[in-house]
Amino acid sequence: MSLAVVTATETRIETPTTAELPMSAARIVGLTSQIRTTTHESRTTLSPMDGKPVADIPVSSVDDVQAAFAAARNAQVGWARTPLIERKKALLKLHDLLLENQEELLDLIQLESGKTRAHAFDEIAHVALTARFYARRLHKQLSPQRRSGLFPGLTSVIVNVVPKGVVGIISPWNYPLTMAISDGIPAIAAGNAVVHKPDSQSPLIALAGVELMRKAGIPADLWQVVSGTGPVVGTAIIERADHVCFTGSTATGRKIAKQAAERLISCSLELGGKNPMIVLDSAKVDKAAAGAVNACFSAAGQLCVSIERLYVADAIYDDFRKALVEKVEAMELSSSLEFGPDMGSLVSQSQMDTTKNHVDDAVHNGATVLAGGEARPDLGPFFFEPTVLEGVTQSAQCFGEETFGPLVSLYRFSTEDEAVALANQGEYGLNASIFGNAGRARELAGRITAGTVNINEGFAATFGSLDAPMGGMRQSGLGRRHGSEGILRYTETQSVASQSLLPVSGPKSISTRKYTGIMTFALRFLRRTPRA
Ligand code: NAD
Repeated sequence: MSLAVVTATETRIETPTTAELPMSAARIVGLTSQIRTTTHESRTTLSPMDGKPVADIPVSSVDDVQAAFAAARNAQVGWARTPLIERKKALLKLHDLLLENQEELLDLIQLESGKTRAHAFDEIAHVALTARFYARRLHKQLSPQRRSGLFPGLTSVIVNVVPKGVVGIISPWNYPLTMAISDGIPAIAAGNAVVHKPDSQSPLIALAGVELMRKAGIPADLWQVVSGTGPVVGTAIIERADHVCFTGSTATGRKIAKQAAERLISCSLELGGKNPMIVLDSAKVDKAAAGAVNACFSAAGQLCVSIERLYVADAIYDDFRKALVEKVEAMELSSSLEFGPDMGSLVSQSQMDTTKNHVDDAVHNGATVLAGGEARPDLGPFFFEPTVLEGVTQSAQCFGEETFGPLVSLYRFSTEDEAVALANQGEYGLNASIFGNAGRARELAGRITAGTVNINEGFAATFGSLDAPMGGMRQSGLGRRHGSEGILRYTETQSVASQSLLPVSGPKSISTRKYTGIMTFALRFLRRTPRA
């Protein structure tokens, strides 16, 4: 079977290795017509599957970003007044549409990211879960809350949860559907509009997600898509947004935080990691090795919560190493558009270069390659074998730097204290995993500096548990997605207090001196009342 893609310019691409992917020029134009642009300029995207063109993507100007904000602000006013029940219906409809349209979505994710079909399905499942979670929790999370007033019985207080306005979303290529759409769902649910810049590598799948939102009943102008480079179009978004939600590298996150601080707007930043897994001596070796394979090589390691450091208890180290190497060597790599293969391609030459450089540099600094270590041009231009290193020294780049590729380093430890200290090394704090006795692992989890800790799982247990917040400590980010935290970041609280019978400053008929005496008595009395 062959990969057959028709680009917007009617180019037909054939390669012998992958399954047939029908994507007509009209369909691509249908998707790209959602981009707000007046420039008549475009940029051709390439598929990691075969390095060949996918589509011509129109580019937006700063004026287009300005127009996108104007339209979004206009749409947001009406949307903020839309009853929560209507928003809930639209989100549940989106959930259903995602599942109904999954074949085309899976094709697009694979085409633009190079990952396997199973890893692509994780994205659809995550967006659907997110839509359902916020649909079902909207009323609880956004309804006005009654709070205690200054004078019991005389001051009644309501706290309203109001949208911030227009949220700017800048998303990466690695999970191109879910990182584009899932952070925007709570923004929309809370009554905001969105102006979104998907990564230039993966705009089509983001546009397919936006199209489904519109079909689900979200007003067309409420979610604006612009396209272009980070420094130009991304900056133009930050200069106009009421909140910025960014997912990407720590280096870019720092720049965005500075720009947001200049404008005194809030931002949530989901950034990089160098995530550790601890394998305790109580772990079942085979189960832990299988868990490690999944945790290290999903989406070819291009996953923010992916494991890149494996710390294994001395007592089971040799058995674990053997089991891990066997499993890694048995992995099937392919660009097939069918379910089945274990790992797909890296996304670009740049990802390929980083991975290869990290392996070569580690070996140069004394490491041994236990499995993998080579590029696989026979499978596609950016295929790299899942790689396990041992003996990585502190001078190697991959010791502390994020690779964001299919590369993991294996280390041993003798005591749990040592394992915790090793896991906490470095500047990141995104995700961690512990395999072994669950009770023991839960005790250790509290000592790990990471926003999520998965026990007997690599990352999916926390990432898929939508009620629990997810995000990074230290250099891995600011703020949290998922849970109430994931929607409240897009809102402001507004406290409304109404005073009855007596003004707070006291009745005119009583002198100030007398009133302060009464107030002193009241304060002392309330101090003794446990609930006041
Ligand atoms: P990146 O920072 O290079 O780019 C991400 C997005 O930011 C892109 O859309 C890009 O165009 C835009 N951008 C770049 N420079 C910009 C600027 N100056 N102003 C505004 N926007 C700008 O990141 P990447 O390499 O594409 O993504 C990989 C990184 O993302 C990894 O470090 C990974 O760990 C991280 N990531 C984190 C999470 C998370 O949830 N914590 C999830 C996915 C990826």
